Amino acid sequence: MAELLKGKPVADRLREKSTALISQGKEGFRPPKLAIIRVGERPDDLFYEGGVKKNCALWGIDLEIKAYPVTVSQETLLTAVEDVNQDQTIDGVLIFAPLPKNIDEKAIFAALAPEKDIDGLTTANLGGVFTGAKDAFAPCTPVAVMETLDYYDIPLQGKNVVVLGRSLVVGKPAAMLLLEKHATVTICHSRTENLAEVCRNADILVAAVGKARMVTKDFTHPGQVVIDVGINADPETEGKICGDVDFAAVEPICAKITPVPAGVGSITTAVLLTHVTTAWSKKIPAQHNSTWKNVSDAAFAAGMSALTLAAQKTAIKLTAPDTEE
Ligand code: NDP
Repeated sequence: MAELLKGKPVADRLREKSTALISQGKEGFRPPKLAIIRVGERPDDLFYEGGVKKNCALWGIDLEIKAYPVTVSQETLLTAVEDVNQDQTIDGVLIFAPLPKNIDEKAIFAALAPEKDIDGLTTANLGGVFTGAKDAFAPCTPVAVMETLDYYDIPLQGKNVVVLGRSLVVGKPAAMLLLEKHATVTICHSRTENLAEVCRNADILVAAVGKARMVTKDFTHPGQVVIDVGINADPETEGKICGDVDFAAVEPICAKITPVPAGVGSITTAVLLTHVTTAWSKKIPAQHNSTWKNVSDAAFAAGMSALTLAAQKTAIKLTAPDTEE
């Protein structure tokens, strides 16, 4: 029986780190703020928005939702993006995609200020992920994969990792983040030959194909770690979701596996709000809090991994606020 790598403790850890930063940093400064740009009322967008809304309240992050009808024009959306870019009280922006077919989606993403692009949509941030820039915002799902591997102490250095899927949102950035941690990475896709065999040889398999239960027992081996990114409508049970991995077939063989639901998908929102917190922390003026300034500079310089360090420093300050001065 495989160890279950659940998402909740990973998301909780992210929330604890960020809320520690928020409570420290907002002394004399405003709270962080996220803006959502949504076109239409697609059920999955509304579902995601509901989760983000609930979590923003929990984390102490302000939220502004800019909703437009599906008939919205390119110009109106571009103006909306320019507005959020200019608004100094907005730290991060989430644009729900795909946008309607009449909208030039690439142009809308390109208009977003990279420092507010907490979902890693812009070329600047994606480029940063590929060049290893520490302050780039990677798309949230690949970061959720990395946070899962980190939380459960799964070593990456020198390990043979297969990423199944090569999209710009999940597969490619996930491969780059894994490479950054010194894994030996193979990216598979729809033209890969001997797919099951290539996957079976992996120490860690990250499945991001968008095909319900495609990863069968032939793709795994005892000792393998399986990270299932897939969120698919379950073809067998109406109204339920399932992963890209055939959990019932794979779980008895592999060593560790993420469930669907309650796995990687449940961490994505926490990563998004962590990115908002990071974007916000860079804006806190030094005069508001000199201790915070030092902490946020460290986080700014070293990116998300420094958030841990910053949270630790913050925790020390919070527990002994008056003794040092
Ligand atoms: P895409 O459809 O953009 O990409 C799918 C990738 O899988 C492509 O690279 C494709 O190859 C490859 N693929 C498809 N079919 C096969 C096959 N039969 N054999 C081998 N490779 C195949 O999907 P996304 O990357 O956007 O999403 C992947 C999954 O992750 C989906 O289930 C999605 O719902 C989920 N997801 C989950 C999120 C979360 O928060 N957990 C967020 C985003 C996505 P090729 O390039 O050759 O076509």
